Amino acid sequence: MDDSHAVVVGAGIGGLSAALALHRRGWRVTVLERAAELREVGAGLTLMANALRGLDALGLGPAVRRGGHAEAPGGIRDRRGRWLSRVDGAELTRQLGTTAVGVHRAMLHRALREALPASSLRTDAEVEHVESGPGRAEVHYRGHAGSQTVTADLVVAADGLRSRIRAQLWPQHPAPAYAGSTAWRAAIAFPDPVPVAISWGPGAEFGMVPLGGGQVYWYGALNAPPGGHAPDELAALRERFGDWHDPVPALLAATPPGVVLRNDIYHLAVPLPSYVRGRVALLGDAAHAMTPNLGQGAGQAIEDAVVLGAVCADGAEGLPAALAAYDEQRRPRSQAIARAAFNAGRYGQQLRNPVAVALRDTALRLTPARTALRGMARYAGWRPPAG
Ligand SMILES: Cc1cc2nc3c(=O)[nH]c(=O)nc-3n(C[C@H](O)[C@H](O)[C@H](O)COP(=O)(O)OP(=O)(O)OC[C@H]3O[C@@H](n4cnc5c(N)ncnc54)[C@H](O)[C@@H]3O)c2cc1C
Repeated sequence: MDDSHAVVVGAGIGGLSAALALHRRGWRVTVLERAAELREVGAGLTLMANALRGLDALGLGPAVRRGGHAEAPGGIRDRRGRWLSRVDGAELTRQLGTTAVGVHRAMLHRALREALPASSLRTDAEVEHVESGPGRAEVHYRGHAGSQTVTADLVVAADGLRSRIRAQLWPQHPAPAYAGSTAWRAAIAFPDPVPVAISWGPGAEFGMVPLGGGQVYWYGALNAPPGGHAPDELAALRERFGDWHDPVPALLAATPPGVVLRNDIYHLAVPLPSYVRGRVALLGDAAHAMTPNLGQGAGQAIEDAVVLGAVCADGAEGLPAALAAYDEQRRPRSQAIARAAFNAGRYGQQLRNPVAVALRDTALRLTPARTALRGMARYAGWRPPAG
């Protein structure tokens, strides 16, 4: 391949995965990240089978599995701990060929970073706008030395939920919308075994994911107006979830002050008409920010990256056709998953009418295990393109 050059905007999980996918296909890659330092804040993540297969294709599957905790999701409980739906973990693993893995975000981020040449990563580089011409694209950014421009054959916009590049290229497209819920999360030391499971109460959800090495990632989500703050977030959560089943209160009791992250959940409620404009491809949350209810946001970003690498395997040669194939392969699936995630939140965490909750819980208890399994396997069954 000749010297094909890709500029990736944003060094989150999506941007680093895309940079790695292109680097492995022979591209020269420059990653521009506005943060002064490359570090992933955040707690834990569940990587479903599709995300793990994507990481396998990037050569990182074994390291990520080793660095996390492999366990099939256990199912859904009510707030008293009664199982509403149980997943046959062994059967799910048999069908998908791999379990899910709970990982600390920082571990995944570090693994991606370390797989890239250090010289490809530029921090303190805030992209201001992109010009996509017929032969080359120009990326204008503000660095520590002032305004700078870098040219590229391909620009990957992986600049997250509030993507400036998306807003520049699709100025009429509606901004991300508040989904109605706020989430709190933390990764903590917790030596007792816990299953991977979520629990639902009226307008509330609590999830727990073991990360291995005596660490557990937990999150709580509640219906709430956006922009709220509690003087002591942890105390407010302990009060809200204090009468939930074990080990919910114990997890909150074991959480040190100051480690809880609070995020209002926004998503791209109106799907984009394309993920490609000229030489620019949108990827990850920039393309399809979704609610976290299916644990698929990072997984979809990883899938995007793997597919982008595959369609661009011949370098800048034939880029328009390659990017058209990227859009065709990624948009329908990721937008369907975003839609399903939003609906899962409405039916699950956000439901609060007591009659509706009772009906839903009964329906879940009566759902055959096989059907529940099919639902879980539907999105996790993705495999990377051959070659
Ligand atoms: C509460 C919660 C729980 C979640 N749980 C899961 C889960 O269990 N499993 C899962 O798969 N997903 C989960 N997700 C979703 C997942 O975190 C995101 O989908 C994923 O991290 C998106 O990665 P990204 O790289 O696309 O975007 P981001 O992580 O937002 O990265 C964007 C990067 O671009 C940089 N940037 C932005 N603008 C510019 C600019 N102008 N110039 C240069 N750099 C710029 C930012 O600084 C940032 O580093 C969860 C999300 C939330 C909120």
